[in-house]
Amino acid sequence: MCVKCIMDTSDPRLVFGENGVCEYCQNFENYIFPNWHADSQEGVLIRKQSEIIRKRGHGKDFDCIIGLSGGLDSSYVAYLAKEKLGLRPLLFHVDAGWNTDQAVSNIEKLVNGLGVELYTEVINWEEMKDLQVAFLRAQIADQDMPQDVAFFSALYRFANKNNIKYILTGSNYSTECCREPEEWGAYPGIDKVLIENIHQRFGKRELKTFPIIDVFVYRLWHQQILGMEVIKPLNFLSYRKAEAERELEIRFGWKKFQHKHHESRFTRFYEDYWLPRKFGFHKRRAHFSSLIMTGQMTRSEAIDRISRPEMSEHFLDQEFEFVADKLDLTVLELRELFNGENKTYREYKNRRWAIGLGAKASRILGGERRLFR
Ligand SMILES: [Zn+2]
Repeated sequence: MCVKCIMDTSDPRLVFGENGVCEYCQNFENYIFPNWHADSQEGVLIRKQSEIIRKRGHGKDFDCIIGLSGGLDSSYVAYLAKEKLGLRPLLFHVDAGWNTDQAVSNIEKLVNGLGVELYTEVINWEEMKDLQVAFLRAQIADQDMPQDVAFFSALYRFANKNNIKYILTGSNYSTECCREPEEWGAYPGIDKVLIENIHQRFGKRELKTFPIIDVFVYRLWHQQILGMEVIKPLNFLSYRKAEAERELEIRFGWKKFQHKHHESRFTRFYEDYWLPRKFGFHKRRAHFSSLIMTGQMTRSEAIDRISRPEMSEHFLDQEFEFVADKLDLTVLELRELFNGENKTYREYKNRRWAIGLGAKASRILGGERRLFR
């Protein structure tokens, strides 16, 4: 384990310096921190950017769109955009069938409190379920890809259709500077080839409405031709997790989650049960390491937290049954999938090499400063 954060050799390609400091910590010190405009400029850059967004959006119903999950980062961006930057955002939520009650309630409170419009796109549940079960049968670590793809693709499709040029996201260095390694089921982009190959082999129903935008279509068509721009406002201000949670709670009655990504019942189960117990990967290792690097958590606190799951055994057992039932599997069938032989995406058709080239280019250009191998 790294002597500064808690990343360890469960990331199979992790490299340490002579002093025992891992490459994520080195990347943070050398590449992220010096280029991070958070505290010093007191939001000057993002205010200038907001002015441009306001001008370009003049006369339109909305000047930007924000994908809202109900989690902390996207909720905070919505609040920031409307109340602190004076923008007119459309909040866009994708309902893939797994919202926790707390996520729904947070979205409601935020939308009412801000007095903004919310558009909810509901993914066809039969198709969603079919794709998720196909992924489970494929036995790869990347089990959150169906949800991620739906969220991302639906948002772009909608923005494109409604001629909205600016997409604001909650992506940020403060809580995400340590990128989850891709071996831990964090595939680095939307790979239509991979998704379709897995669905062809294990799916049972045609995906007629399920949104899948290929990463290249998105990069080339949406960004280069249509001129859509992605802004990450949280990187331009002092953004601290506990303070942001408190602010949203006081202002809207918004309730904080036990842990990152707990707005989705499937993701919570996947990250707290499926991934650590079937594959030995703890995404919390990266989440906590980010907080350590940015001074929001101590290393000993993180070591203590990661020594046990976020949820109780009893709760996780119940969730196992819930997930099986919701996916129309018996508990035994889901248990068999859980016990099945693990595979990687390399056993399926994919375009990982091309996505890798794109991501490397983006890192050279400064669009992605987090460690990418
Ligand atoms: Zn480290």
